[in-house]
Amino acid sequence: SRSGFCKANSTFYTKRNPLGLPPNPSLDVTTFISSQPHRGTTAFIDAATGHSLSFSDLWRAVDRVAECLHHDVGIRRGDVVLILSPNSIYIPIVCLSVMSLGAVVTTANTLNTSGEISRQIADSNPTLAFTTVQLATKLPAGISIVLTEDERVEPTRGIVGVVCEMMKKEPRGERVRDRVHQDDTAVMLYSSGTTGPSKGVISSHKNLTAYVARMLTEKSMHGTFICTVPMFHTYGLLTFAMATVAIGSTVVILPRFELNDMMAAVEKYRATTLTLVPPVLVAMVNEADSMKAKYDLSSLKTVRCGGAPLSKEATEGFLEKYPTVHIFQAYALTESNGGGAFIDTVEDSRRFGTSGPLTCDVEARIVDPDTGRFLGINQTGELWLKGPTIAKGYFKNEEATNETINSEGWLKTGDLCFIDEDGFVFVVDRLKELIKYKGYQVPPAELEALLITHPDILDAAVIPFPDKEAGQYPMAYVTRKVESILSEKQVIEFISKQVAPYKKIRKVAFINSIPKTASGKTLRKDLIKLATSKL
Ligand code: AMP
Repeated sequence: SRSGFCKANSTFYTKRNPLGLPPNPSLDVTTFISSQPHRGTTAFIDAATGHSLSFSDLWRAVDRVAECLHHDVGIRRGDVVLILSPNSIYIPIVCLSVMSLGAVVTTANTLNTSGEISRQIADSNPTLAFTTVQLATKLPAGISIVLTEDERVEPTRGIVGVVCEMMKKEPRGERVRDRVHQDDTAVMLYSSGTTGPSKGVISSHKNLTAYVARMLTEKSMHGTFICTVPMFHTYGLLTFAMATVAIGSTVVILPRFELNDMMAAVEKYRATTLTLVPPVLVAMVNEADSMKAKYDLSSLKTVRCGGAPLSKEATEGFLEKYPTVHIFQAYALTESNGGGAFIDTVEDSRRFGTSGPLTCDVEARIVDPDTGRFLGINQTGELWLKGPTIAKGYFKNEEATNETINSEGWLKTGDLCFIDEDGFVFVVDRLKELIKYKGYQVPPAELEALLITHPDILDAAVIPFPDKEAGQYPMAYVTRKVESILSEKQVIEFISKQVAPYKKIRKVAFINSIPKTASGKTLRKDLIKLATSKL
């Protein structure tokens, strides 16, 4: 078997280099990242402007911004700071500054409606928001704002500054900060987890330090990266505001994904690695001939793919079109802070269908979802993960925390998986209700709650419907009131007016009653079977 993979009783783990975790209980994750020795010179390049930031520029900026936040804005340990921004080189600066103060970084999906963002703000209660002029209009009145671009807007909303100005300030020399404890929350990202609406996942300095320590051991993280995954999501934020900074890799940031821009950036910066979600990889396959004709892609060695399942068809199509590029998959959850599975070598990338070997920072169990029995090698059941990166839980939601992380610290992933004799994880299906549209989280519970507010709707259930390009999209089963003539189109429009575009319901079927268990839980699997039986 592959070296290092072990099974003891009912637990699987991969024994690799021990993680270099710092023993100091008050070392914050920013200081841990900044103290890593590496030979990197350029930290970030803004592809839109060509502006680049060296590692010394970056750390100077982080220090200045932290100082301003502490002295001028009064940000203290435990305060929450929201980042609502398209990808930009300011996100890592702000994130590292905020965490260095013991304050908490939270993010919101820039595509969300102002209603959705306001609900999230009501839950997380941020003191301050970093945002752009355009996105500022989505924020509720009253919240203080720091703009991430050098543009002025009318100071009607308690605007306190512009981040570029903070970066240029003279240092004060003194460094009076609150003492941070490793158990303090550093980051709170929103995820619906296994059930219900979106919740704040609280991750500590210890969680993120463990993540960074593990990433420092992964060989494939050196090079020049193009970041097109959103930095409001765990995948983008952890990789590009933390891991690559600690490792010393260069990251080219595009404000949003556009295939031509991405490929042009590969050529211009001789990028070695693309970081993306499966739908982008599918787009690369579909447009392969014109992309290869237009751009010199000879520097490209790997695409790192995660966030959602990658189909066999897409993998084969990609390898056929780009025979010199390797696909390195990874599997993780917001709740696991990178812990899960991770491909790090060309040899491992050749194994088809796996998300990679277990990362060395987790122990894993495969649990029979019906009986709770622990299963063995090559047996399919729910994947449980335990280790130093597993989040502390959900913000102000003990019930959801206890349902997801048991008293022994096992995170129930809600994913149906098996682990083979070499410790490779295969994701077979999703047990939890979560829908992923182009890698974006769509919590069915949120859409169901909206559907039943319609006067003609008695009951509703939202399920994932498979789609070649998006992976899956939300489909609704709706029970109408007697004599209602509500149409599919009306249901679709009713929802699309209220949600971000990626959450739109794209298919509706009417049903006499929603199948439920004796305890009233929707039998989603039955509905999925019904919806897909006609395919
Ligand atoms: P998020 O918290 O948004 O990162 O969503 C995590 C979920 O995305 C996981 O529980 C899986 O259902 C799915 N996921 C992430 N990576 C993969 C992968 N490589 N293969 C299959 N599913 C994945």
